[in-house]
Amino acid sequence: MLERDENGTVFQARPLEDEWKREVIGVLRSDDFGWSLHVEERSEILPLPHPFPGFAAGDVVSAVILPEFADRKAVAVPVRRLPAPSAPAAGTASELKAGFVTIQRRLGLLGLEIPEFTRWLKQQDIPFVLESDAIRFEQPYSPLLAALRPRLPMVPVCEREACRERMSAFPFPRPAQPDEICRICREEAAAAKPAEVPPATYDFGGRRILIVGGDAVGVAYREMLAHHNLDVEWISGFVGLGGARQGIGNVAAIVIILKQVSHTMLREITAAARDTKIPLLYSPRRGTSGVLATLAAHFRLQPRQT
Ligand SMILES: [Zn+2]
Repeated sequence: MLERDENGTVFQARPLEDEWKREVIGVLRSDDFGWSLHVEERSEILPLPHPFPGFAAGDVVSAVILPEFADRKAVAVPVRRLPAPSAPAAGTASELKAGFVTIQRRLGLLGLEIPEFTRWLKQQDIPFVLESDAIRFEQPYSPLLAALRPRLPMVPVCEREACRERMSAFPFPRPAQPDEICRICREEAAAAKPAEVPPATYDFGGRRILIVGGDAVGVAYREMLAHHNLDVEWISGFVGLGGARQGIGNVAAIVIILKQVSHTMLREITAAARDTKIPLLYSPRRGTSGVLATLAAHFRLQPRQT
């Protein structure tokens, strides 16, 4: 239940039932799509219904998740800000000093660039001393690293060899969870696991298409699918169609990434496609290979011989 003040601003969210309530810890971010909560443990990004006074981007907060309801997607409502873990506490020498390997393991990372990490620690105002193979903190490292983990800009990487080889391009790579999009190959982690076969290449003859949803891949669809001679327009599944409606007329097909699109958007896009008689395709997978398979089947294309 949302309690609002006289301006209609939600100041408190109370769950109606206990099973209903999901409380999570995450970092608040603000970008072109508005405010969102990034929950590292669940690798989930939840929009906020509106900005909440008293909260700023970068705040680590506990929040409740209001489940999807009618036309509204699941949203996060921040409840309280968690204090920055900077208060020095007493600790024995062994509790303060953490080896590089320990730090990497505690943060759940596949690799760790120490210069990047120390630079990031300074940004977080965490005092430390860098040693040859360890970092000495002014407070016990165990709770400190646990508190820092949700703030660290980690990048999910799948198990494909090619991706693991390229992960050093990111300072804080971590294993992608099943169903999560790998930041390097842009495929769903589980889907990429069994086969190491090189992906097929197609020639779509410069066709222009619109992809709706699949926000974890987002604008990267454009670059990834350009290799197949596709001209990609992408819009988030969680905004209204808005100005994009005019651009729909000159696309050869619209691909909807299933489960990544709000009901409102789905209704708008279905109506727009019906009016313009543009084929509407549905991709059950978010990764580029899923989208590619959907398009190849529709246009009856065979992979290029290499
Ligand atoms: Zn990958």
